[in-house]
Amino acid sequence: MNQASAPTARPPAERRIDLIDLARQQAPIRARIEAAIARILDHGHYIMGPEVAELERRLAAFSGARHAVSCASGTDALVMALMALGLRPGDAVVVPSFTFCATAEAVMLLGGVPILADVREDTFNLDPASLKEAVLTARAQGLPLRGVITVDLFGQPCDYGAIEPIVRESGCWLVCDAAQAFGAEWNGRKVGTIGDITTTSFFPAKPLGCYGDGGALFTEHDETAEILRSLRVHGQGQDKYDNVRIGLNGRLDTIQAAILIEKLAVFEAEIAARNRVAVRYGKLLPPGLICPVLAAGATSVWAQFTVRTPDRDALLGRLRAQGLPAAVYYARPLHRQQAYRHCPCASEDLPTSDRLAGSVLSLPMHPYVTAEEQAHVADALGASSRELRGAAE
Ligand SMILES: *Cc1c(COP(=O)(O)O)cnc(C)c1O
Repeated sequence: MNQASAPTARPPAERRIDLIDLARQQAPIRARIEAAIARILDHGHYIMGPEVAELERRLAAFSGARHAVSCASGTDALVMALMALGLRPGDAVVVPSFTFCATAEAVMLLGGVPILADVREDTFNLDPASLKEAVLTARAQGLPLRGVITVDLFGQPCDYGAIEPIVRESGCWLVCDAAQAFGAEWNGRKVGTIGDITTTSFFPAKPLGCYGDGGALFTEHDETAEILRSLRVHGQGQDKYDNVRIGLNGRLDTIQAAILIEKLAVFEAEIAARNRVAVRYGKLLPPGLICPVLAAGATSVWAQFTVRTPDRDALLGRLRAQGLPAAVYYARPLHRQQAYRHCPCASEDLPTSDRLAGSVLSLPMHPYVTAEEQAHVADALGASSRELRGAAE
């Protein structure tokens, strides 16, 4: 996911296709962003300026969440969520293995133990059956299980209808890592209103991205929101030099808040455009590539358009040779990574995470991909697939 294209304007003659084209997104709102930054240079409130509170009001209104608390990154959001929920060293938290590392990293930073669970092959999201196994594994190993972090991967929320009852029955809290899914919905509930705390990231390449690092947390609980606001400024109490808990420097810059206000204003239209791009891929891509599916009741903001194919490595090589972008999210699940290898797993192996790591391929996806560009990508994939099949015969 962490692959932002060069944000500088390119000469129009150069018709390069980008995986995520931030320059094309910037063009129509560039003047408004420049004006917003100029206002900050004039008022000079670089830290916690008025734009930060304004953005939080708008994020809460957009998501329907009672509280939106901005912070410095999606990773800080996860760390702050776990701190607010009182995670202590030795506490266990279920996390999917097929995700970006930050989900498990936040648990380990606080001394917790991630229990790595498997995902579903069709949606890439936490498999409720594996979550059940993880709960049993924690019990069998005598690990104090405190919580579950779900990841709404590639823009689509998890199957909360199956997950929420398991979380509740096991006495756990639920944090939704929606770094890739802010703006999506599950059964009419917007991301940000599911779980005890939802976290998101405004890394430039995420569906709603700023021009640096940024993140936010969402919660329905007044007390949790108050703790989060304290945590992001060193555990501040009543005033600046009153410290009531250990926190961090986790604030969102005023300039990034101002940029996000402008981006949020066009976000709804961009989500609609991303969905049109996804539908078009579904019609254009050659048979043999398995397209991503939306679960019943779920919408997606299509952070990635990720297909599956047994010929992944060969296809990736051929696309790249033609100068077409494609990427692999994620080539190694966490249980195969040096830093997480020793973590307990929900079951003896996590076969779906392993299989996905060898078969996923993410194609260019942003609101401004043209039908022509998609046809070009589809043609290249079709021709390469035919060649590969011919070579195999
Ligand atoms: C990007 C991402 C994060 C981390 O966000 P940053 O803003 O880069 O710290 C966490 N979880 C997931 C699933 C992500 O995709």
